Amino acid sequence: MEKKTFKTEVSQLLDLIINSLYSHKEIFLRELISNSSDALDKLKYESLQGKAKADSELRIDLEFNESEKTITLSDNGIGMTKDELVDNLGTIASSGTRKFLASLNDEQKKDSNLIGQFGVGFYSAFMVADKVDVISKSALEENAQAYIWSSDGKEKYSIDEAQREGHGTTLILHLKEEGKEFASRWKLSDLIKRYSDHIAYPIYLAYDQKNYDKDGKETGSEHKVEKINSAAALWRRPKASLKPEDYNEFYKNTSYDSEDPLFYIHTQAEGVTEYTTLFFIPAKAPFDMYHADYKPGVKLYVKRVYITDDEKELLPTYLRFVKGVIDSEDLPLNVSREILQQNKVMSAIRTASVKKILSEFKKISESNAELYDKFIAQYNRPLKEGLYSDYANRDELLELVRFHSTAVDGYTSLAAYKERMGENAKSIYYLTGTSLDAIKNSPLLKMYKDKGFEVLLGTDDIDDFVIGTIGTYKDLPLKAINKSGAVEDFKTEEEKKEDKKSSPIIEKLKKALGESVKDVVISNRLTDASAVVVVDDNDMSVQMQQIMKAMGNSDMPLSAPILEINSEDPVVRKIEESTDEAFISDAAFVLLDQAMLAEGVMPKDPALFSKRLHSLLAR
Ligand code: ADP
Repeated sequence: MEKKTFKTEVSQLLDLIINSLYSHKEIFLRELISNSSDALDKLKYESLQGKAKADSELRIDLEFNESEKTITLSDNGIGMTKDELVDNLGTIASSGTRKFLASLNDEQKKDSNLIGQFGVGFYSAFMVADKVDVISKSALEENAQAYIWSSDGKEKYSIDEAQREGHGTTLILHLKEEGKEFASRWKLSDLIKRYSDHIAYPIYLAYDQKNYDKDGKETGSEHKVEKINSAAALWRRPKASLKPEDYNEFYKNTSYDSEDPLFYIHTQAEGVTEYTTLFFIPAKAPFDMYHADYKPGVKLYVKRVYITDDEKELLPTYLRFVKGVIDSEDLPLNVSREILQQNKVMSAIRTASVKKILSEFKKISESNAELYDKFIAQYNRPLKEGLYSDYANRDELLELVRFHSTAVDGYTSLAAYKERMGENAKSIYYLTGTSLDAIKNSPLLKMYKDKGFEVLLGTDDIDDFVIGTIGTYKDLPLKAINKSGAVEDFKTEEEKKEDKKSSPIIEKLKKALGESVKDVVISNRLTDASAVVVVDDNDMSVQMQQIMKAMGNSDMPLSAPILEINSEDPVVRKIEESTDEAFISDAAFVLLDQAMLAEGVMPKDPALFSKRLHSLLAR
């Protein structure tokens, strides 16, 4: 028997693993199974080249012995020669692991939570075992000799000749006190299902099933071997071999949703970055879609090995309703959250996935109106968030989002609005508010209706802000009709000049209302109402100001509205004629508050409003 000392980097890693990974011990199994799966992949490849002979079934086998506290894991894969055992297990083979180790500073090394995100390959066996035997025989040599590599994971390992029937590798983990719970049928099958369900090769678990007679007395036991994993990473199967039912079944089995998805998007990318994605759009929005601590719906796999389902960065936040799988061929297994966020491969997959998802939405919007309506009913609001958070895809998103409108029942797209637009229209008009009924009755809409201009109606809480940030759609400015800029479209040069001049009624109202208004102007767009309130283009609409206040931003500086008056209106006329200061003041404020009310906004001081109204009525 030969005794050897580990390379220093291995000792360092072993130390780190044993001392820091404590709370994530269970990942050892995923790591070892993944190594076996790689070994089977390699053998498959070599046998296709005619360089080795594979058994008829490529498989992974697990056994355990509760009383002896051992777990045995074997594969009939490529195996290792003596030199390979020394090279592969005596040094850190994986460049990913080495880089990871080098990248950690002392603080991070102490942070078991951080390190717990990582995989650490073969050495993770020492988290649960105080001795590991590796018995391996290479499939690449004829009449190969088997060897046993053995170590307590401290400083040294030994290597010796051994017996093994066929080629492949067998690991015997001698569990330590803190790892003995893993020598259990339920624990092992649970871990296989959780982490390794989609490994391409079958994973068998052997166990003894005790038999009892009708009095409950043990009558012996039966040795059973059960395949635990489904061994079918559906997303990796050729698309042509999959039927819609296969996708729907897979979705329901993996997502805890009992309904079929609205649709799915399956991509198998080859080339510079090789990956597979399978995304599902649930029929109903996830219940936690608007919770800050929502559960992301996309699971990350690396070569079919499950890595995480709790990584919000896999897709942008506005696509948080998308469920499914990203499986990369190029990421290291030991990928951490921090590495993911800076990783070039991951960011390429993410960028391509977003493009793909959005283009699929677009396709459906053009080809299947009924399906798209269902989709919009659930996901219009999150898509709108993308308009301000994903500038790179803004143009695509502009085609996808939908709005209510004065011209149609239900929803319209910006493209359809543009189609319907008359020759004279210079802008896309919109009005936002808290409910569709309320804004449909806004006096501001009257003129647009009369002139035959369509107005988009936004009732989502973020519409005021979101539509405001759009700016233009295909060179057409979007204008809020409750902001002063929209009016300019309808003024003749003559009227614009008129604006600059003042009139006695304007002076009177300005004096009476003081700081309560930013300006008073004579409107050319009011026929029924006596007055409306608008805000300056750069100010928040009166409704939005109210929402912000309701959300607790009470110290937010409010901007005073602009009061637009109808100079033909009898009340306005009365004010114009009057010299009674008390009457002018009451009437001016009632005019303002009433215009606010018409926009669904409470007067600043409701008691004072009703007192003034009463005194006017009393006259
Ligand atoms: P990694 O898998 O990241 O390369 P590991 O420490 O897990 O690093 O394993 C080191 C090397 O040992 C592997 O690259 C592989 O060559 C070899 N190895 C590990 N497990 C097996 C196995 N079951 N069969 C054959 N070779 C193996």
